[in-house]
Amino acid sequence: SREIQLASRPKGWPADENFRLTEVPVPELQDGQVLVRNTLMSVDPYMRGRMNDAKSYVPPFQLDQPLEGGAVGEVVESRSEAHKPEDTVLHSFGWRDYAVVDGKRARGIDTGLAPASAYLGALGLTGLTAWAGLTKVAGFKEGDAVFVSGAAGAVGSLAGQIAKVLGAGRVIGSAGSPEKVERLLELGFDAAFNYHDGPVKEQLKEAAAGDGIDVYFDNVGGEHLEAAISVLNKYGRVAMCGAISAYNSTEPQCAPRNLFQAIGKELTLRGFIANSYNRYAGEFAGLMAGWLRDGKVSYDETFVDGLENAPRAFIDMMKGANRGKMIVRLA
Ligand code: NDP
Repeated sequence: SREIQLASRPKGWPADENFRLTEVPVPELQDGQVLVRNTLMSVDPYMRGRMNDAKSYVPPFQLDQPLEGGAVGEVVESRSEAHKPEDTVLHSFGWRDYAVVDGKRARGIDTGLAPASAYLGALGLTGLTAWAGLTKVAGFKEGDAVFVSGAAGAVGSLAGQIAKVLGAGRVIGSAGSPEKVERLLELGFDAAFNYHDGPVKEQLKEAAAGDGIDVYFDNVGGEHLEAAISVLNKYGRVAMCGAISAYNSTEPQCAPRNLFQAIGKELTLRGFIANSYNRYAGEFAGLMAGWLRDGKVSYDETFVDGLENAPRAFIDMMKGANRGKMIVRLA
């Protein structure tokens, strides 16, 4: 069986030499465990943080050990009551051909209901992040004007569409290419812009068409957050979901220089971790399944083939090569 190990910790942008593809024996199953042949794995921005030797809400990856992350696969052998061979399961030991998983830590998924990849994206933690960030963290209300950054990505494209379904007044998205901007308009965003085309603040003001914004769903941080603070209306709310513009910088970024505006505008800026909203996972999955079925929400996916290409897929995702969720197909 092959696995991708962390060979060295990246400084700044990760590179191929930080990863190592290694052949390892498949361990003997213990009672309660299942052997899973992985078919799909997720690459996510938060993994960049785990490559640093720094304390965070998830422990760092260990050097010379396999990376971890969301994956789907087929049970090939089971010593657990929970799953039988040929079951399709979701678990958190990606980055390897075969995973040995505690049966209780693998969740059976119904691929008759939706394709397996959806459980890594729209129907999984990605979707929960978008929905919980909007409704539970930003306190979204009908009629709110919403701005989403990283809007053509996995979380962002869902956050914008969910805002529309829930009755947003205006939904604005930003992304890094003209093709992505076009896609956002197809997905039902009212306005979209390419942040490479000019200062975010000016483009956001124009997209808001004189009405400002009430909610900012922040995937990016940095200049985007500063621009949003300027354009937010009184009592505006920010769901601080991610700050991808900072994940590969070697120097800490400057805080938004206009943060003091939060006082006069009585803004709320609130960070969150999707896992803290797991108690809503069932409610969310029901809502999302309905929106997908009714064609009210759709999700994009970008596939890369081969475990050996997973590090590249991860780096390319951080650079914007993906539209929607970036997924690696194994075997
Ligand atoms: P995406 O699918 O959005 O992929 C990352 C995207 O980030 C790229 O496609 C790229 O698109 C964009 N990007 C990269 N660098 C920059 C930059 N400097 N400025 C603006 N955009 C940039 O990933 P996810 O949907 O999985 O994650 C999106 C965000 O949500 C991340 O910040 C992530 O950390 C966060 N997150 C947080 C969770 C939580 O629990 N709080 C859970 C899941 C995700 P482009 O071409 O537009 O530049």
